[in-house]
Amino acid sequence: MSSENVGEAKNEGILVVGGGISGMTAAVEAAEVGKKVYLVEKEPYLGGRVVRMNQYFPKLCPPVCGFEINSRRIKQNPRIETFVSTQVKKITGRPGAFVVTLETKASMVNDNCTACGKCIDQCPVERKDDFNYGMAKTKAIFLPHAMAYPFKYVIDPSVCKGKDCAKCVEACEYDAIDLDAVPVEFELNVTSVVFATGWKPYDATRMENLGFGKFKNVVTNVMMERIAAVDGPTGGKIQRPSDGKEPKSIAFVQCAGSRDENHLAYCSGVCCMASLKQSTYVKEKLPDCNMEMFYIDLRVAPRVEEFSVKVQENEKLKLTKGKVAEITEDPSTGNLTVTAEDTLAGEKIHREVEMVVLATGMEPNPVVKELVPDLEFDEHGFVHPETTDKGIVGAGCAKAPLDVYSSVQDATAAALKAIILR
Ligand SMILES: Cc1cc2nc3c(=O)[nH]c(=O)nc-3n(C[C@H](O)[C@H](O)[C@H](O)COP(=O)(O)OP(=O)(O)OC[C@H]3O[C@@H](n4cnc5c(N)ncnc54)[C@H](O)[C@@H]3O)c2cc1C
Repeated sequence: MSSENVGEAKNEGILVVGGGISGMTAAVEAAEVGKKVYLVEKEPYLGGRVVRMNQYFPKLCPPVCGFEINSRRIKQNPRIETFVSTQVKKITGRPGAFVVTLETKASMVNDNCTACGKCIDQCPVERKDDFNYGMAKTKAIFLPHAMAYPFKYVIDPSVCKGKDCAKCVEACEYDAIDLDAVPVEFELNVTSVVFATGWKPYDATRMENLGFGKFKNVVTNVMMERIAAVDGPTGGKIQRPSDGKEPKSIAFVQCAGSRDENHLAYCSGVCCMASLKQSTYVKEKLPDCNMEMFYIDLRVAPRVEEFSVKVQENEKLKLTKGKVAEITEDPSTGNLTVTAEDTLAGEKIHREVEMVVLATGMEPNPVVKELVPDLEFDEHGFVHPETTDKGIVGAGCAKAPLDVYSSVQDATAAALKAIILR
């Protein structure tokens, strides 16, 4: 796991771009039937969005479950070479014979790192922790997250004071830090490419009527995952951001920006299940908290219907069919008023709550289109499923918003296509 032996062209194999659950699955499936695989991830760790979840529906197991199995399969398979902190710069050639140029960011912490943490104590600089969606801080040298794979520290060069400081270098007993490290460019020869570049949350500040970014106690669904996680910014306590108080009432606002021509025109398919799942976090940690979920239609895949029905039996959870028009704040209390049209009652309602969770949808991560002129995208920016005859195939949420089960299935199919494409 590194870019140590880079700089020379590699043997033929499959390139998998994106090391989330889809990319990891495509990599292990292709490698376990004998193909050489290069797995490339832009972040310093594998796992994608899933490792930032508190629990998965429907089984409510922590992400570490499936992640550990997959990372072990990757670690133990000599046919998989993994490059983290790496991006594709250029793809040339043709199906069966692509030449890919990649760049690995300057690796200022090498594999000698034991994650002992002595460097952190000495580092004088703090940064916003993007893993926790800005709700916590790390030092300029940090472990990306508690179960990061690879398990080693990284340095954020945008805030690190470099050699003028070098306190981390002095503190490190393992000679693991090199502040002079530079980015490394290298080439790979591959027969096919799998784009498993995944998704990002829709920018909630764009819905001005919903108050995200203006009112502290309006958070998004991905933030709620981190708030509920024991390794998250509150140590797993459900607290509202303005004052750390345990909320007595929470509103879940579905379709926050989804199924809306001005934002995301499509349904992300998982947000209803994600909010129902999050209501179980609240039930477990704050049993007296009242919850209300505002929805347009409750969309649940048949596979998870039983789970959905069970969650809805919670008497502390009220489901109200109606689109939320506006959220306002009482600045003296930080409480929020949710205004919605109750479709079934045919009336406008106003509910005061102590915290709001916006169920924002999933947008495709941008793939630089110039990199791969032959790759086709649909109107929303997802990789078009019909691109396969170009030697390049999409997998998982790069193709459509999907849950983990469907992403894994799709990635397995993508691996098969990548094997036969040449
Ligand atoms: C609030 C919420 C809760 C959810 N909860 C659940 C749940 O409980 N159960 C469930 O089944 N599903 C859940 N999902 C869906 C789940 O998150 C997705 O199914 C899963 O993340 C899909 O994995 P992926 O690998 O396709 O994409 P991602 O997880 O997005 O991984 C993509 C990876 O590609 C990397 N990448 C992107 N661009 C590049 C590039 N150019 N070069 C290199 N690397 C790149 C990214 O850094 C990332 O690591 C939830 C979704 C939401 C919004």
